[in-house]
Amino acid sequence: MKPATQTDEDLPTYEEVLKQDTAASQQYPPQPPRPVPQQQQPPQQQPRPPQHYQHQYMQQGPGMAPAPAPGAMPRPNTTSSTSTSTSTNTSTTPSTTINGRRIPWVHDTPLNIRPASPYTLNPPVEADGLSWPSIGARERSEETSEEEQKRVGRIADAVQTILSELGENTEREGLLDTPTRYAKAMLYFTKGYQDNIIDDVIKNAVFEEDHDEMVIVRDIEIFSLCEHHLVPFFGKVHIGYIPNKKVLGLSKLARLAEMYARRLQVQERLTKQIAMALSDILKPRGVAVVIEATHMCMVSRGIQKTGSSTVTSCMLGYLRESHKTREEFLNLLGRRH
Ligand SMILES: [Zn+2]
Repeated sequence: MKPATQTDEDLPTYEEVLKQDTAASQQYPPQPPRPVPQQQQPPQQQPRPPQHYQHQYMQQGPGMAPAPAPGAMPRPNTTSSTSTSTSTNTSTTPSTTINGRRIPWVHDTPLNIRPASPYTLNPPVEADGLSWPSIGARERSEETSEEEQKRVGRIADAVQTILSELGENTEREGLLDTPTRYAKAMLYFTKGYQDNIIDDVIKNAVFEEDHDEMVIVRDIEIFSLCEHHLVPFFGKVHIGYIPNKKVLGLSKLARLAEMYARRLQVQERLTKQIAMALSDILKPRGVAVVIEATHMCMVSRGIQKTGSSTVTSCMLGYLRESHKTREEFLNLLGRRH
């Protein structure tokens, strides 16, 4: 069966996306930063200075740093020794000070103002490494194992209710441990929220390289959860980019896809998030991400026949502008659109 193809004709370039933030910021007015309770921030866990980030992306000198996004929000100034500062930067330029050096284009992760859309108010990769997290991601990533057990318990209680409401006997043997198992499974399926894109995903895998030909990694398997039905969608991601003096370790492309897939997602957003994060990390000349996936909410509910797949794509930069380059990418993927 022919896959339904979503064209990316209407998808904006990265620059256009950032421009749209201006509009988005009016739609989603900024809220004051969420106070971080002191007891959740023991000194040894105090903000990890983003060493890798700084090393990989910042030691290029100011000339290499891109201009701050035009629509970006003013962010509080922070330093590497305090994660949240109450003094608000009055200038419209976002900035973070790391090791005494002001980095104009690095932001705190705005857990409480991030709109649901990938058209972010801030760049995809942020100073603390949490990239487009959920509102409770920081709490999850910093909790103790005891607190995690309590979280599992609370989810399990809710699952118990679901089972009863389905008319099941929750006391029968097969279902006894199901609530706890399901709770743990859900936390695993959404573990990508608390992945640190700098420390856990990219690590030290950004390399200076003169290679300027297209790099493609095909058939990266992903398993994600449709946020509308909480059922899986799964398939393959193909990622291509044209380097601009920097390349990423190949396995990291798969880790990047995995990080965004292990969240509650819609396929379109997953596609864009991977593309925009890669664009932000490498500043390549072009990025293309294509995802082919099967959605359980479609194939198991009789809307579409089994075997149908949904194809989404996001192309940025040169891969978007140049028809020829794009054709080359699609040819290398082994298919013509
Ligand atoms: Zn669905």
